[in-house]
Amino acid sequence: MATKVVKFGGSSLADANQFIKVANIIKADPSRKYVVPSAPGKRSSKDTKVTDMLYACYDTAVRGGDFIPMFNEIKKRYTDIIDGLGLDISLDSEFETIKHSFMARAGRDYAASRGEYLNGKILSSYLGFAFVDAAEVIYFGENSKLDLEQTCRAVKERLDKVGNAVIPGFYGSMPNDTVKTFSRGGSDITGSIVAAAMNADLYENWTDVSGFLVCDPRIVPNPEPIQTITYHELRELAYMGAGVLHEEAIFPVRKAGIPINIKNTNKPDDPGTMIVEQAGCDDCKFTITGIAGHRGFAAITIEKDMMNSELGFGRKVLEVFENHGISFEHMPSGIDTMSIVVRLDELAECEEDVIKSLRDAVSPDKIEIDRDIALIAIVGRGMKSQRGTAARIFAALAHAKINVKMIDQGSSELNVIVGIGNEYFEAAIKAIYAIFVSERL
Ligand code: ASP
Repeated sequence: MATKVVKFGGSSLADANQFIKVANIIKADPSRKYVVPSAPGKRSSKDTKVTDMLYACYDTAVRGGDFIPMFNEIKKRYTDIIDGLGLDISLDSEFETIKHSFMARAGRDYAASRGEYLNGKILSSYLGFAFVDAAEVIYFGENSKLDLEQTCRAVKERLDKVGNAVIPGFYGSMPNDTVKTFSRGGSDITGSIVAAAMNADLYENWTDVSGFLVCDPRIVPNPEPIQTITYHELRELAYMGAGVLHEEAIFPVRKAGIPINIKNTNKPDDPGTMIVEQAGCDDCKFTITGIAGHRGFAAITIEKDMMNSELGFGRKVLEVFENHGISFEHMPSGIDTMSIVVRLDELAECEEDVIKSLRDAVSPDKIEIDRDIALIAIVGRGMKSQRGTAARIFAALAHAKINVKMIDQGSSELNVIVGIGNEYFEAAIKAIYAIFVSERL
């Protein structure tokens, strides 16, 4: 039988009703053997995630404040779920332990991790699956980085012994046995690790949207869903800010050749988005797979006669940015010019220093800074086989009266990045969507 690892996000497990949906999904397919839950998320847009409540509660405890009212509110989130499911279990002793650990300052990571730990306890009891504490199988090294090899070995050894299991997301343990969490949204990473360790056929990541959309629905209403996307394309888009899945969740499954299926707990029949290593273009509905972008960039353009023959010029320029802790996004260049595109907020902190260091390092003829740049990435494996894609992008922008300040196309022909003024950000995405997607429907 195939093996699937299924991860459910916080909104999928926010209350008893959501738990029932989750259980139905799991029971509908016996290959859904290993389940990774998040902590209860928001039940409505004004609600607070349990993880945020735990951080706030622990911070109050550490400050010596009265953390009990908040603690009781957290407890109520869980007892409401237990009662709503009609379960005959109590988490009282767990809550006592947690309370004492808060008083003993067990650490913020420990505090936050209890959100998934307790949810895992409830889910395992509701499903009748074994509970496997992530602290016993997910290991971080001395450098606080995940030890993937040791972790995979431990997960496999442990899960092989149990038929089905619930493994809470988001945390693991340090060599000194303290609890450590991944960064926010890290249950995605746990799911990916468990899938890799068990050599699963599929990693299903259940959330509250039916996968990725071609572009941001706040800009284009009801954009088309993306049915299939490659890991490579997703990186190009995620990097620009389309965050349904934690960036670091890609690595373990990708390395193991396991696809990810993003699915919607509230619409389980929707196909969602498949994330795969390789995909042809026979199934591409459109030339482009996705459009994503960000406002708030700056371009520093450096001009110097005969720059192209000055050995080490680029290295010296980039070293200046490196020394100031600024990473660069893009670097379009001409014969005697070179532009470095960076985040405006990162540059603003040390702009004068950077300019001075550039002058000292490469004695340029001129340095100009454009502080009004939004970047848009148009990504698609279908571009490679289509002539005229770039022409269509620029025609769409010209037609919308948007001036293109910068163009960058990687040689993989997977994406085109354009730089425009911040005020045209939304109009540009709409224009590109219209020409590649709306006109094809
Ligand atoms: N509960 C954690 C958070 O809110 C981790 C997760 O949900 O993936 O960030």
